[in-house]
Formats: sequence, C-alpha cells, structure tokens
Amino acid sequence: MFQRKAKTPVAKKTTPSKVQAPMTQKSAPEYDVVIVGSGAAGGTTAQVLVEAGLKVAMLEAGPIRKSFVDFAYHDPFPYEDPHHGFKSESPADEMRKKYVFGPNAYAPNANPDEPYTSPKETPYEWMRSRNVGGRTMFWGRYANRFNENDFKMRSRDGAGNDWPITYKDLAPYYDKAEIFMGVCGAKENHPDFPDADNFLPPVALKCPDYLLKKAAEKIGIRAMRVRRAMLTKPYRPDPALTKLFDKEIPTCHYCAGCDDGCETWSYYNSAFRQVMPLLEKYPKTFTLIPNAMAHKVNINEKGQASGVSYFDKTTGAEKEIKARVVVLGCGTLETTRLLLLSNIANSSGMIGKNFIEHLDVGAQGYLPDLSFADREAGDGIGGSHIIFPWFGYFRPDEKRDFLRGFQIEPSVRQRMKPDKNPKTTPGFGAEFKKEIRRWQGTRVSLACHGEMLPSPNKFVEIDNSTKDKWGIPVLKINYKWDDNDLNMFKYVKKTYEEIFAAAKAVDVRLPKAPDPAGHSIHEMGTVHMGSDNKTSVLNQYNQSWDVKNLFVMDAAAFASGTHKNPTLTIMALSWRASEYMIEELKKKNL
Ligand SMILES: Cc1cc2nc3c(=O)[nH]c(=O)nc-3n(C[C@H](O)[C@H](O)[C@H](O)COP(=O)(O)OP(=O)(O)OC[C@H]3O[C@@H](n4cnc5c(N)ncnc54)[C@H](O)[C@@H]3O)c2cc1C
Ligand code: SF4
Repeated sequence: MFQRKAKTPVAKKTTPSKVQAPMTQKSAPEYDVVIVGSGAAGGTTAQVLVEAGLKVAMLEAGPIRKSFVDFAYHDPFPYEDPHHGFKSESPADEMRKKYVFGPNAYAPNANPDEPYTSPKETPYEWMRSRNVGGRTMFWGRYANRFNENDFKMRSRDGAGNDWPITYKDLAPYYDKAEIFMGVCGAKENHPDFPDADNFLPPVALKCPDYLLKKAAEKIGIRAMRVRRAMLTKPYRPDPALTKLFDKEIPTCHYCAGCDDGCETWSYYNSAFRQVMPLLEKYPKTFTLIPNAMAHKVNINEKGQASGVSYFDKTTGAEKEIKARVVVLGCGTLETTRLLLLSNIANSSGMIGKNFIEHLDVGAQGYLPDLSFADREAGDGIGGSHIIFPWFGYFRPDEKRDFLRGFQIEPSVRQRMKPDKNPKTTPGFGAEFKKEIRRWQGTRVSLACHGEMLPSPNKFVEIDNSTKDKWGIPVLKINYKWDDNDLNMFKYVKKTYEEIFAAAKAVDVRLPKAPDPAGHSIHEMGTVHMGSDNKTSVLNQYNQSWDVKNLFVMDAAAFASGTHKNPTLTIMALSWRASEYMIEELKKKNL
C-alpha cells in the first residue's frame, strides 16, 4: 500500500467542526426539512433550502471524507510502487474499497453489511457509494442537458413515458445548476445537446481526440467538445445565485486524477461544493448527520410524513428525526427501497417499476498514427475532450430496428503504466523499451450510453428472504435486456467498427455483448413523475401525489432516461422542486 503525502494545500481543509451529534429521540427538535442522502440531489436541495433560510437536517449513510486525509490524490509514480506495477493496490483502489461498493468493474468489492439480490441468470452490477457526497465523489462530470424531444418521446414514438414538464420548464434550472457547478464547453448548435450561455472555456482537444474526430467525420458522425463540470478558469459562482463562496475556486491543472478527489476542488462534487460550505456558513440552520442509515419514512395520523427513522451506524441505535417535509435523495434504487419498506406513496402501484438505466458498450483499439507522440499530446482531464452526441438526427431516412439513440464517450489519456501489456510485448532491452514507447498514448477506448425503454422485465422489489446488517429486507433487482437494447447494441458495435476503421486503428477489440446490466451507474425512473396520479408517483415538482410533504429528488423521479448523463438534470429538477417547496411552505400548504 502506498503512503503518499499531500502536496501543498491549495483549497481550505474540510474539518467538519460543525457536524452535530445525532439527536436522541427525546430532545429531537423539529426541522423544516430532513433530507436523506448527500449526493447531487441531497446536496442541491440542501443548498437551495438552507440559503433560503430553512432549517435543514441531512441524514447520510456514509462517513465524511476529509480533504488531504481521505483522498488518494493521483497515481504514484511507478518508482514509488514497491511492486513496480505488479499486483499492487493503488491509492485510488484503496479509497474505493472504503467508500464505494460494487461489484462492478470500477468498484469490485461488495458491501457485506448491505447486500442486494438479483436473479441468478440476470445479475445486476449495482455500484453504490457510502460517503458524504455520494457518487459525485467518483463521477465522470459529463453535464449534458436533455433536449426538447427528450421530454416528450412517448408522444413521438409511442414508447415509455412523457415527462409532465417541457424543456422550457427546466431550462432556467439547467442554467442555475451549470452556473453553480461551472461547466466547461462551447456552443455548437448540435440538435442533440441544447446550447447554453454559461459555459466556461472548453478544454483544447488532445491529439487522440483530434484523430478520432477527423475519423468519425469521414463517416458522417459529428464530434463536440465535452461539457463537463470542471473549472477551466478560476471561478466563483455568481453571488446572486449562491453565497457559499467568498472567493474564486482555483482552475483545473489537468492532472486527470479526478476520480480520486481533487486537491484544488476544481470539479463539482456535492461534498466540497455544497455540504461542507453549508456546514461552515450555516452552522445554526444546517445539520449533517453522517453514518445514519434511514430505513423508514414515518407517517402521522393525517397521512403526512412526520420524519425518518434511522440506525446510527456507529452505535447501532435506532433513532427518529422529525421534520415538516421529508426529501429523499438516496440515489434512485435506495430511495425506492426506502419507499417500499415504508409502504407509502404508492397508490399508483408504480414504485419500483419503470426502471431504466443506460445501455453501455465498451471497445478499444490502438492508433498507430500516434506512435511516439509526445506525452503532452494526451494531457488533460481524465477521459476525452470530445463526445459524439446522437447522430441519428442527421440520418432522418435511415431505417433502424430500435427506438431512440445513444452518445459515444471516447476515452484517451496518458497513463503512468504502459498502454500495451509488457508481458505480451516482444523484444528485450532497448528494443523492448522502444516497443513499449511506440504504443504509449495510442490506446483509445469507446464507451456509450444508450437510451433504454421501460419494460415488465425491468423492476425492483423488496426481497424478504435477505436482510441487511440491521435486519431490514434488501432490494431485489430484476433487469433483463429487451430486443430494443440488443438491436441497439448491434448498431453501436457496427458504429464502433466504422470509427476504428476510419481511424486506421489496429488491435481493435469489439464487444460480444453489452456491458453488464448496471454498468452505466445511471439508475432512473422507479418513482417517476407524471401528469396523472393513477399512473405516476410524483407530480411535476417531484412531490408525491399521495403524501404532499414528501419529495423525491434523485433520478428515481425521471419519467424517461434519454441517453444523456443524468446528474445535471437531477440537480436542475432538485433546484426547481426546492423553489416550489419554499413557496408551498410560505403558503402553509406543507
Ligand atoms: C464512476 C462514475 C462515473 C459517473 N459519471 C457520471 C457523469 O459523467 N455524468 C453524470 O451525469 N453522472 C455520472 N455518474 C452518476 C452520478 O454520480 C450520479 O448520477 C449522481 O451521483 C446521483 O446523485 P444522487 O444524489 O441521486 O445519488 P448519490 O450520488 O448516489 O448519493 C446518494 C447518497 O445517499 C446515501 N444513502 C443511500 N441510502 C441511504 C439511506 N438509507 N440512509 C441514508 N443515506 C443513504 C448514499 O450513501 C449516498 O451518499 C457517475 C457515477 C460514477 C460512480
Ligand atoms: S484534472 Fe482538474 S479537476 Fe481533475 S483532479 Fe486534476 S485538477 Fe482536479
């Protein structure tokens, strides 16, 4: 295991001095709002409500991670590795083991205290995190808006659900979320990704990006510069929007270590940009209760939510917190489990159904045109600086055997370790080293997110046969590919083949099947909003039709998933619903 000292601190340390001890039931004060979960949904809701003057408590099942203590900060140099790259755990692996659980390719370790089940023949890779900040501590930071069509696809092709809102309803909140986070990008007038006025300067293309872009253009596929929640210049969000920041946050220095934490805080995660600043600025009105595992939303005699029961994970004691409004932001499936366990808000019978995620497909190849390129040619933020939005908009006459579309996210970067496996690389001495250098930085991979449709084969339910550490029944995840998914997969694979051929790639590895179910880490739709209380669980403000003072802010509320990364939309919806909640509280409707 590596012990790497942090470099000179640039950002302020996050010593959570204002975290309050969990309350005992006897002395429990009444909060305006209790929020369960501290990811993008919980963080954004807390920020909007606390800045508006409400008294808010946040329950989070994981611990706080401290800057400069609980982060890996960049891969070590190979010479720092005691095993020279063989069977060593990197600091990032170590951190993931502690705070993020799979099993999936990114986080292989399961959480033994909190199992889940799925049918043997259709395993599901559910990646969950347990830390303040949720999965925003690991996210890829792609921040793409849904477009006008995305909200009304059922009206266009008859499948899935329409949203009860339009793009215009959400656009002002996309603005707020983008301005709050700081999103780099550029206006590109692409029909799939609506433009915005808020972009920070785009990141310059890496050399491999440039080659891929040119190659794809040859077959009629247009690339765009990425829109990611990264600061490409020192940035302070508009004080008219938030008072959380007194000075500029430093710019990204392109070390590509974002997955493992950022010492300059140059990308958005909800812990550093919302929860910690709220604790600092609003110690009297914002309370964070970490290591608190919620297991039930309580209901009073009027059928309204009265608070949340939870286990203090440090002592095992069961406690209750009371509030006028309950907000769930546990990350889609855990929100769904909590509602099913509480047996509330389900007069439509839709909780757990309408389960959608993204169809992911991975492939890789090597671009000989990049042989012996300078290391700097691949410098930048992790992943690629381009994206291929859905190009079906440019192929109106093409007949396809699947509905909807996908976006392709390439990945290109300079790594510490060789791109070609040294064990299978021929040669010895100087020749061997030359061969290794030849391929360094030439590997490109392609990944995609494809839109999936709801179906009776995709749903979650409570599994009473298995219990978690606290004796609470776990979630069973049922997820089976449909024809639409498999037909889209074939089309994605063919597209990859064409891009690689146009880029003159060698040693191309194409997939035989989609990535395992759950791979996208974009679970959505299981508590979806709609315009009819008989067929949906929430109204257009993320508010339960049945229990008026209950809101669901995470992607469980999505009516459809589109092929776009969900977090920007989660934040925009949370912001919109929070403003609505503030108005309803003022009117004493809640
Ligand atoms: C590797 C990776 C890459 C990603 N890349 C992107 C990307 O590029 N773009 C994008 O848009 N999205 C991306 N995502 C997805 C993104 O992280 C999620 O969409 C986002 O974090 C969801 O926010 P959330 O608040 O709904 O849930 P989460 O971030 O999952 O947070 C939920 C929180 O609730 C807590 N919780 C759960 N159950 C309970 C309970 N019972 N009691 C108390 N607390 C509870 C959890 O511990 C967690 O901290 C990525 C995710 C990962 C892991
Ligand atoms: S690439 Fe930028 S945002 Fe990512 S860790 Fe490095 S400095 Fe931070």
